[in-house]
Amino acid sequence: MNKLLPTSSAGSLPKPVWLAEPETLWSPWKLHGDALIDGKQDALRVALHEQQVAGTDIVSDGEQTRQHFVTTFIEHLNGVDFNNRKTVKIRDRYDASVPCVVGPVSRSKPVFVADAEFLRQQTTQPIKWALPGPMTMVDTLYDEHYQSREKLAWEFAKILNQEAKELEAAGVDIIQFDEPAFNVFFDEVNDWGIACLEKAIEGLKCETAVHICYGYGIKANTDWKKTLGTQWRQYEEVFPKLQTSNIDIISLECHNSHVPIELLALIRGKKVMVGAIDVATHSIETPEEVASTLRAALKYVDADKLYPCTNCGMAPLPRSVARAKLSALSAGAEIVRKELSAT
Ligand SMILES: [Zn+2]
Repeated sequence: MNKLLPTSSAGSLPKPVWLAEPETLWSPWKLHGDALIDGKQDALRVALHEQQVAGTDIVSDGEQTRQHFVTTFIEHLNGVDFNNRKTVKIRDRYDASVPCVVGPVSRSKPVFVADAEFLRQQTTQPIKWALPGPMTMVDTLYDEHYQSREKLAWEFAKILNQEAKELEAAGVDIIQFDEPAFNVFFDEVNDWGIACLEKAIEGLKCETAVHICYGYGIKANTDWKKTLGTQWRQYEEVFPKLQTSNIDIISLECHNSHVPIELLALIRGKKVMVGAIDVATHSIETPEEVASTLRAALKYVDADKLYPCTNCGMAPLPRSVARAKLSALSAGAEIVRKELSAT
C-alpha cells in the first residue's frame, strides 16, 4: 500500500433488505434461482459502492454472497452432511445445531472464486477476501469421521490453500482467514492451529491476514465478554507464536474492548489491522475517537504497518449504522495521516 493508514472493514457488511432479513445471522435468502444469483451480485455492487463513498481504501465484497462466514464455505465441500445435524458448543460458548463430517473432506470446485473475479472487475482498488480459518471451521462442525480436531483442521487447511491460490489468481490482494477460535483454544492454537494456518497460506504471493476477535455484537458474545474481567489478555496466549509465523497481517479488536493496547508489542514487525470501530454498539464513533485509538496503537505499530479497521464484521448492524461507522473510520484515519505528515 502506498497510502499511509489504509482503511478496511473486518469483513461482512449488512445485506439489503430485499436480499435477506436484516440484522440477523444465518438469515435465509429472500430470492431463489437466477434471481438470487443476480441479487447477490447487485448487493455486492452496492456494498462496494458504500465502501467507496465512505472512503474505504481496501475494499471487500462485504460477504454479500454468503449466509455465514463459516457455514457457506463448508456447504460447498464434500464429506459434510448438512441433513445430519448435531448440537455442539461453539467456541466453548453457545450451543448451535451444526452439520456432521461423515467422510473425507474435499473441494470439488471453487467456492468464492467467481465472486472474487466479479469484485475484481468492479474496481481497481486493492481487494481483501475473507475465508474461515481451519480451526474455526472445525469448531463449527460435529466430526464423526476423523475424530481428531487437528486432523480435520489439516484437511481443511489443504482445501483452503487450493481456494486461496485461485483467489490470488483472480486478483485478490489480501486473503484473510477468520479465526475467532484462536481467542479460545490457546493450547490447540499453539500446538497445531497456527501450523494449519501456515499450511493454508503455503505458496501464496499475495498478502495474508488472520482476523482474531471477540465476535459479532450478538447476545452470546456480549454475555461471554462480561465474564472476561477488566483486562482481556487472550491475545497474549497466541501472539508470540503468530509473531514468528509467516502470516503478514494480524487483524484484532481495540476500540471499546478491554484488550490492553500494550499486547500489540507482542506482534512487533507484523502489519496490524487495528479495530477502531466497535461492532457491538449502534452508536457511531467520532473521527476523534477513531484517531485516539490509532494514536494509541502507533506506540506499538510502525505507521507504515498500521491498517485502521473495524473490530469485526458488521452484518448484524443496520445499514445506516454500518455506513456511518465506515465513514468515521476514514475520517479518523485522515486526522492521524495529517498528524503523521506534519511531523
Ligand atoms: Zn470478527
